[in-house]
Amino acid sequence: MDNNRYESHRPRKRVSRKTLRNRRLAALAVIAFLVLLLVLLAAHACSGDGKKKSGGKNSTPTTTITTPTTTTDPAITTTAVTTTATLTDPVNKSDFKLDRQTIILEVGETDMPRVTGYPDGMGEADERWSSGDATIATVDNIGNITGIKPGVCYVTLRSASDPTQEVMIKVTVRGDGSTEATSNATPQSNTAEAPEPPVYDTEGLTYMEGVLIANKSYSLPATFEPGLEPICYQQFQALSGAASKEGLSIYLNSGFRSYHDQEIIYENYVKEDGKDKADTYSARPGFSEHQTGLVIDVNTVDDAFGSTREAAWLAEHAHEYGFIIRYPQGKESITGYQYEPWHIRYVGSKLANKLYKSGQCLEEYFNIKSEYN
Ligand SMILES: [Zn+2]
Repeated sequence: MDNNRYESHRPRKRVSRKTLRNRRLAALAVIAFLVLLLVLLAAHACSGDGKKKSGGKNSTPTTTITTPTTTTDPAITTTAVTTTATLTDPVNKSDFKLDRQTIILEVGETDMPRVTGYPDGMGEADERWSSGDATIATVDNIGNITGIKPGVCYVTLRSASDPTQEVMIKVTVRGDGSTEATSNATPQSNTAEAPEPPVYDTEGLTYMEGVLIANKSYSLPATFEPGLEPICYQQFQALSGAASKEGLSIYLNSGFRSYHDQEIIYENYVKEDGKDKADTYSARPGFSEHQTGLVIDVNTVDDAFGSTREAAWLAEHAHEYGFIIRYPQGKESITGYQYEPWHIRYVGSKLANKLYKSGQCLEEYFNIKSEYN
């Protein structure tokens, strides 16, 4: 993504030595001026307001930090974000760029994260904002986020034309002088038990031992739209923070997907590869585990991810944070999906530990099928 897009391709004319020398001096002066300008711009990069329109990836910040550190303490994360907001990518790996990854509001207060870059060929018209919990914070169609009641939720910015392009921002709404909202969001590290996943009171959901099932045999209603579960995201942050201490970068690529998002994705794959092939790697709408809000695809959705150090670490440690590698190698005929080393499912530590030890996949453990009717 970091391309040399700033090169000049002006045509050159033949010139005399003197002119050349003069031009070199002039060029040096111009370069010195530009360097000064860049330094000044960098110093003021945080002070802009309003949405910056951009022509796509050109707006990728030129300053890069090689290893973004994620910490398990939300208070520290917040501080780190405010100071380095324009320098680091959010944990989300999307071509959408936001100027921050968290926002803290009082009840009734409104703030708007700035979009500092769009995926190629997309612009403001593609923005689709949604709140994971509108009882905590609402968001309008241009990204104004308003605190409703104390708590933590996630606001997602997704592209209307390509729902795989999404970026998430954590919203903390503070109560009157209380810091409870941030403290109850403390992720559990592997020194503590990862909490149980939530149980929804929605018709048409299948639970086994408190675990929401979504596979080719068990679908979810189209209206079921929980958003990315805060507990799933918090545990993921703890996991990602632990990995970064080992010098590894595990980031969120894709989280919650609605029925409608999946409809678009699946139809596109069917167009490209045909239904039979598409069914081996993409879920039909209503059958995607991403619709549970308890799933995260990390890093790159690519077979090559499987041979990275990150994938090896994830396979060894995901259960400590309550996650399982949902579609393991060699279980394709049981899970109904090809090996996906990047797709982790939050099930809480009890079940995650059991499955890690036994080597079973979810279908084996519950003795269920994963086949389309
Ligand atoms: Zn996935």
